[in-house]
Formats: sequence, C-alpha cells, structure tokens
Amino acid sequence: MEKIKMTTPLVEMDGDEMTRILWKIIKDELIYPFIDLKSEYYDLGLQYRNETDDKVTFDSAYATQKYGVAVKCATITPNAARMTEYDLKEMWKSPNGTIRAILDGTVFRAPIIVKGIEPCVKNWKKPITIARHAYGDVYKASEMKIPAAGKAELVYTAEDGTEIRELIHNFSEPGIIQGMHNINGSIESFARSCFNYALDTKQTLWFATKDTISKKYDHTFKDIFQEIFDAEYKEKYDAAGIEYFYTLIDDAVARVMKSEGGYIWACKNYDGDVMSDMVSSAFGSLAMMTSVLVSPDGKYEYEAAHGTVQRHYYKHLAGEETSTNSVATIFAWTGALRKRGELDNLPELMTFADKLEAATIKTIEEGKMTKDLALITSLENVTVLNSEDFIKAIRTTLEASL
Ligand code: NAP
Ligand code: MG
Repeated sequence: MEKIKMTTPLVEMDGDEMTRILWKIIKDELIYPFIDLKSEYYDLGLQYRNETDDKVTFDSAYATQKYGVAVKCATITPNAARMTEYDLKEMWKSPNGTIRAILDGTVFRAPIIVKGIEPCVKNWKKPITIARHAYGDVYKASEMKIPAAGKAELVYTAEDGTEIRELIHNFSEPGIIQGMHNINGSIESFARSCFNYALDTKQTLWFATKDTISKKYDHTFKDIFQEIFDAEYKEKYDAAGIEYFYTLIDDAVARVMKSEGGYIWACKNYDGDVMSDMVSSAFGSLAMMTSVLVSPDGKYEYEAAHGTVQRHYYKHLAGEETSTNSVATIFAWTGALRKRGELDNLPELMTFADKLEAATIKTIEEGKMTKDLALITSLENVTVLNSEDFIKAIRTTLEASL
C-alpha cells in the first residue's frame, strides 16, 4: 500500500514518562507504516524544556498558530520533587497553561465510548463534551477574612480617579469576603471557541450560568454568548441543523442527567472544573478521555486528558511489564490528522483517522484491552495486553480494515 501524503506539517509536541514511551510505539506501529508523516517536531520532554529555558514550549505554541493543528503528548508540570529529579534550573510553568495562554483557547474534553465500558448513567449513549472557560472567576479571586464589625465595599477607580462603590455587607461580627473578576474579551473568546467547535463537530451547544441570582456577573456571560450567537452564528447553526441552548445551571445539571448525551456543555471556570470530573468518572476512565484546545480563530491542539502515568513509567524503568492504555493518545493523533486532512482537503487522511479510531474501538470490543479497562469492563473472556501488544493488536485490526 502506498503511504498517504500530507501537504502541511502537523505540529508534534513530544512529552514525558510513560506517555513518551507510548508516543514512540504509536508512531512506529500506527502512523509511519501508513502515512508519509510531515511533522514539525518539538520536544516538550522536561529535560529539553529545561535545556532551552522553556523556549521550546513557546516555539511549539507559535508553530501551532502558524500551521493550525498540533498533537501533544502528556507532559510533566514541575513541582518541588521534579526540581530534584530533573535537576531543573527553574520550576517551569505548566506547558498546557503556556500553550493555552498563547492560543487564547478553550479546552474541550470528550469521552471515547466503547461497548463493554458502560457509563454509570445508563441513559448516556453518546459522548458529553465539556468546554471549560479557563480564565478568571474564583481562580483569580482576592479574598479577605473580616476580623470584626465594619463595612465592606467593592470599589472601582477609573483612570481619571472617579469611583464606583457597591456595598458588599455591613458586618456586625467577623466574616469573609471575596472579590473576583472576568474580562469581556476572554468571555468573547470562550464563546467563539465554543460556537466554532460545536459547528465543527455538528453538535448542539449548551451553556448555563446562575444569571437569575448573579444579575451582573453571570448575566454578562449570558449576554455575550447571545450577542455573538445572534450576530455571527445563528444562520450557520440553522444551516447545520444544530442549536445553541441557554438555561440555568441547576436546570442544565438536571437535564444532563436525563439526557442521552451527544452535545457540548460549555461551563464557566468553576462549573467546568467540577462537572468535568463528574462526567469523566461517570463515563468510566480518564484513560478514555480526549482533550482538544481550540482557539477562537480556529487553531487546534489535540491531546489525551490524562497525565504522564508516572507510576507505570517507574515500573517500566525497573524492567517490569506495563499495561498502559494508549487510547486517548491514539485519538489525539487521529483528531489532529483528521483536522489536518480537513483543512488541506486530503480525504484519504481523514478516512485513515476514522479507520484507526474504528480499529481501536473494535480491538477493545473484541476483548483485547489494557488492564485499566479489563478491571471495569462488562465483557467476558477478556485478554489483558501489555502496553506494546495492545498497540500491535490495534495495528492488526487496522491492517485488516484497509
Ligand atoms: P496521571 O498520569 O493521569 O495518572 C494517574 C493514575 O491514573 C495512574 O497512576 C493510573 O492509575 C491512571 N491512569 C492515567 N492514565 C492512564 C492510562 N493511560 N492507562 C492506564 N492508567 C492510567 O496523573 P499523575 O500520575 O498524577 O501525574 C503524572 C504527571 O502527569 C504529573 O507530573 C503531572 O504534572 C502530569 N500531568 C500532565 C497532564 C498533561 O500534560 N495534559 C495532565 C495531567 C497531569 P494506576 O496507577 O492505578 O494504574
Ligand atoms: Mg477538577
């Protein structure tokens, strides 16, 4: 078979630990044999980030702005222990945070559904994709403990010195206060990323806040979404047969539980933090969750939602066999290849991505899987494969389908 040709390079961001091991096997077994891979390679492994004073992370994000599509391996976010382990010059920031800030993007997380790994919520038949606004609110709040009786106010001072004041509370005893903010520009970017991604994936978009109680703060989110939708997306949504649906957050939670899935749920920062953990655990496994960063101007970075699986990596280093699930990382590759194919009008590349995803799912549904899935599957007579043999089993299924 002739290898599939590419025209524009894919931005490839390599990573750390066990996922770096999987990355190489995936490329050797599932990509190189079938695709004449054109990629611009950035080594985001911690060692090289440290060598380049983290310049490589910035460069990889700029390359994503230039080419439009990236695929990223999980990376270590350094903490005190990693400082010693990797003899770091500095406690470098989270690469995901750096890339997200440069692309001004929103992260969409969606479960990969296979028969035999059933969600806890029995009526969920299709994926629920969560989009979390990743700026501001309680994550950038100022807080104060009020020691005794007194007046607390919100004060805004304009550049010309004029003030606007709002009473928070007249305290007659000790208490607590919190001041948080958001920026219209950030909410607009969030809205556009969500509207674009929903259109892209032909799914209805849900958004919910507590605007009945928070008449200025949450209501601004609601208004910005609605204005952008009416001005820029309404007609496109009608043409695509999808909807934008706004409701109160409590109503949304109740509807999500009773739904069959198949939509995108846009969440404010805190709601997204909490709800993404609920949705991902209810769907079964973090190892079956994909993640894509979408910028408001349509740049895409695909990755797995899990980390570098450190515990498995230490086993691997000790020469022990591992059974690490590579599905989310494989789907990061297929997501990126499909998007590249779509942008460059390469139908063969898009078909290949579909077939690789189908082969991955079929392999699991035939009972060949990694240990994490074997522990939760309802299938009987399961074969537990090691990290490498699982990927090889997918290759066999894939080859049969080509
Ligand atoms: P993790 O890598 O997500 O793994 C936590 C545990 O979840 C594993 O020990 C394993 O459980 C299970 N697990 C996760 N992915 C799995 C997979 N593909 N196959 C099988 N089991 C899987 O989180 P962590 O160990 O807490 O973090 C390790 C490093 O990842 C940290 O340095 C963190 O900074 C980084 N991180 C990076 C990203 C990213 O780049 N997007 C995201 C999160 C964390 P068992 O041990 O029980 O088998
Ligand atoms: Mg959380």
